This record gives sequence, structure tokens and C-alpha cells, in this order.
Amino acid sequence: MRKIIVAIDGWSSCGKSTMARQLASKLNYLFIDSGAMYRAITLFFSRNSIDLENMDDVKKALSQINLEFVFNNENGNTEICLNQENVENVIRNFDIAARVSEVASNSFVREFAVAEQQKIGKRKGIVMDGRDIGTTVFPDAELKIFVTADIKTRVIRRYKELVLKNPEITLDEVQHNLETRDYMDSNREISPLRQADDALLLDNTNLTPTEQLEMVLSWATAKING
Ligand code: C5P
Repeated sequence: MRKIIVAIDGWSSCGKSTMARQLASKLNYLFIDSGAMYRAITLFFSRNSIDLENMDDVKKALSQINLEFVFNNENGNTEICLNQENVENVIRNFDIAARVSEVASNSFVREFAVAEQQKIGKRKGIVMDGRDIGTTVFPDAELKIFVTADIKTRVIRRYKELVLKNPEITLDEVQHNLETRDYMDSNREISPLRQADDALLLDNTNLTPTEQLEMVLSWATAKING
């Protein structure tokens, strides 16, 4: 059967990764969370106090980074390793979320991450989610989906996840982080977040995860068989 690339982009905390993971599992495709790559790079930069203004430092740091995705048999997730260390949990922390969009707007960082993503995509049979997958990473992807949901819904979804690890966190802090990231991601100079002309729009504010999965699965099946 023909293998395709599914590119999923959209605003922060729209449930893109959950949907992409489920779709990949249904299709027996590889799932890649490109945001995890930017988060892992941000973690490396934070740990090594890399100055984003110093391009030599940034280039040197990137040359020391190795990113890999490993499949966790216990939970069925694809998890990210930074230089052989599984950092899947650490990169979800709020301090990484607070810095990642700044790091992701750096031209060398983007060049590095996009090249890695395109390498992974050569094999097709992949579902990748992010902010520039349909516009920059895979402009020829057979199926592009742009996900949105209203801000209150997104804040509550993300708050419920974060409060388990950090009981002190407030809804206002989460809302501020999502709005700041959305602003920075859609206003940066290089490959800003936007809906590709040929992307299908999916507003999941009032959809259950099952309804949403059925919808995207039918789109993907139509493309695979078409
Ligand atoms: O998807 P997630 O929320 O984990 O992404 C974290 C951040 O990484 C985004 O807010 C954005 O700044 C950056 N990102 C990006 N391009 C992508 C994926 C993520 O700039 N393809």
C-alpha cells in the first residue's frame, strides 16, 4: 500500500501530538513530535547556559547535540533522547515551555531541526506534528492538517496536565504561556506558524478525541487510497 506523509500543524496545546500519535498507531506509521526536538534543544541550551545572541556558541552547541526517538514498549509512546539520555519527561516542564519559542526562533536552531526532520521523513509512512511541517519541512506532504481550538479549552487541557507535576501552577500562568508562544511562533521571521494553503482545517473545540481521530483517519485513508 502507498505510504504518505501526514503533516499536522497548529496552535499550542490543541492536542496535536495526541491525535498524531493515535493516527500513526492506526496507520502503523512512525510518529514524530517535532516540538519535542525544539524542547530537547532548549534543555541542552539551558543546561549549558548557551547565549542565543552568540552565533558561534549556538553553532557549537548544535554540533554537540544528538537527537533520537525511541519506542517505549510499556506505554506505546515514541520518546526523545538527547545525547542518549531519555528526556521525554523533563522537556515537558514549564521552564522549558517558557523558553522554547525563543530558542525555536533562532535561524541555526531551525536549520538544524528541519534537516533532522527531513532526514526522518525520507522513508515516508510518517505522521509529524509541529508548527511548520506543512509549510517548510514537508511542503509536498500528501495530507496536511491545521488544528485549532478555542483558547479557554486549550488552557484547561494543558493546565490539567501541568498541575499534576506542579500543583502551584495557575490557569493564568498557563494562558500567558500559550498566548506568548502562539504570538512568538506566528510572528517570527523564519517559517512562522500559519495554515498551509492546501491544509485541511480541524477545529477540535467541540470534538471528542474519538470523533477527531475518526475524522483524520478518514482523510488519511482517502489520501492513501487515492
Ligand atoms: O509542540 P510543542 O508545544 O511541544 O512545541 C514547543 C515549541 O517548539 C513551540 O511553541 C514552538 O516554539 C516550537 N516548535 C516550532 N516548530 C515546530 C514545532 C515546535 O517552532 N515544528
